[in-house]
Amino acid sequence: MKNECENILLYFYGELEPQQAAAFQEHVAQCPHCRREMAFLQQTQQALVPPAAPQTLVEGVLAGAAAGKQGWWSRIVKPALAAALVLGAGVLFFFTGPYRSRYQDDGAELMAYISAEADEEYNNFVADFEAFEEKF
Ligand SMILES: [Zn+2]
Repeated sequence: MKNECENILLYFYGELEPQQAAAFQEHVAQCPHCRREMAFLQQTQQALVPPAAPQTLVEGVLAGAAAGKQGWWSRIVKPALAAALVLGAGVLFFFTGPYRSRYQDDGAELMAYISAEADEEYNNFVADFEAFEEKF
């Protein structure tokens, strides 16, 4: 369902035709990646904060993990929180950084660009999460 995933930003900004939007809503119900992206997009929109803040928090969580604290909190909640913050910071940068003007563009170049960004962000998220897990 690669093509449907590419509609996430257009859907989020209300740019899809009603029929496309309905199709995307059905897709989100079955696509964990899009569900996660939508959650982060909504969180980002609700609470815009400087990207530097989440990064500091991530480093603090990593430092706490490196100190060797165990238990369900550090084993489960902290990695999830850190991963969420890492991806949240990435989303923030994506929307507040130099790429923003690209949304003014049209057509296939834009779609290819969004797709590549989403893939890269997802891969970064997976890599960050795996790196984080190795610390436990
Ligand atoms: Zn999807």
